Amino acid sequence: MMHPLHASAADLRDRLYPLQGRVQHYAWGGYRYIPALLGIDNTENKPCAELWMGAHPGAPSLLSGMTPPVDLLQWIERHPLEMLGQASIDRFGGRLPYLFKVLDARDMLSIQVHPSKEQAEAGFDAEERLGIPRNDPKRTYKDDNHKPELHVALTEFWMLHGFRPLEEAADTFSAVPELEPLAPNLRLYLEDVGDDPQHRRELLRALYGHIMTMPQREMDRLLDGLLARIEPLFDRGVLNKYSPHYWAVKAARTFPQPDGGRDRGILSIYLMNLLRLKPGQATFQAAGVPHAYLEGVNVELMANSDNVLRGGLTPKHVDVAALLKTIDFSSGPAAILQGEAISETERIYAAPAADFSLSCIRIAANKTHVQSSAHGADCLLTLQGEVILANSAGQRSLRRGDIVFIPAETAYTLGAVIKSVLYRATVPLQTIL
Ligand SMILES: [Zn+2]
Repeated sequence: MMHPLHASAADLRDRLYPLQGRVQHYAWGGYRYIPALLGIDNTENKPCAELWMGAHPGAPSLLSGMTPPVDLLQWIERHPLEMLGQASIDRFGGRLPYLFKVLDARDMLSIQVHPSKEQAEAGFDAEERLGIPRNDPKRTYKDDNHKPELHVALTEFWMLHGFRPLEEAADTFSAVPELEPLAPNLRLYLEDVGDDPQHRRELLRALYGHIMTMPQREMDRLLDGLLARIEPLFDRGVLNKYSPHYWAVKAARTFPQPDGGRDRGILSIYLMNLLRLKPGQATFQAAGVPHAYLEGVNVELMANSDNVLRGGLTPKHVDVAALLKTIDFSSGPAAILQGEAISETERIYAAPAADFSLSCIRIAANKTHVQSSAHGADCLLTLQGEVILANSAGQRSLRRGDIVFIPAETAYTLGAVIKSVLYRATVPLQTIL
């Protein structure tokens, strides 16, 4: 192999870069899916929560077969123009704009919301000025970027996404005696505000703010009463995953608070849309939309950021004031995306994100998919089958678990030896959102 430092610019751009993703061993991760995908033994039985594919400074992917070893972040810093292309640099600077992941949730994750670009810039600046170290647990903004995210379920996938229609929440609150005192007049208020979206947001904000700021002792009394009634139902197998009670019990057991207190995030389960996605279905988490992954495996694509505000179901710091400023209090049914076929082989999951685009490529045996990384670098993840990836510089065979980084402005083909499935992360054409 030619030593990377002596390669010409054109040669670098034409190359195909196999990547080694980085596994994150968060405690909520599953034990089998990611190791099986990568063909590695998990002999230590460590939880394998996320596989990161990209150039995030927290865990950049390694370029396979390079001596000395080099990661994608260093490689892009050395060769920004050849790797990212001028159009991507003009829009996002010398960074890969997206982070690509496979996520396996065995246990529930916290309720989260991500800031807008403006909120992230202002929040990051303010915390820098206050001199809060970036690794301080009380620090909210790790960087100055927004983090819209899109994910596609690879297995049956359970999650919370956005606030339910308020009428549904009112029905639940009046049907569950322990919750009723939280909002005894919710129905009357709803009749008052009618369809006015602004007034509906204010009403929900007041209810949510009340829940998030109630004294802990009152919260414990309320949740102790509810859990004393529903835990026996859970233990007898009477509750199924379509019931918020099922997840409330799981949450209480997953997130015990110090001193026996209760996590108030449990109440959000009753206020949010509880979704079961089938494999191939997706949701988009715009800035401000609260969400929580409860169980299942997905492939996820997001802007290159780590900015998360937590809203409960966590032992970590909850900054209620920042949370109330960031959450979008709109309510209604969640939008489930099915993806849209744009060719015989490619299905794109359209989302209003300028930083990334995600599609699924399915190729029948002996068929070929033609592609070009026109607007920025591509990253391909092979989930199934065997394909020959080829461009002007050469070719390589891809099988399950193989990841390849393809520099911007590269034309390539994927020829399926057998029926194959890949996910493709890329930079979309700049459009006005
Ligand atoms: Zn998220």
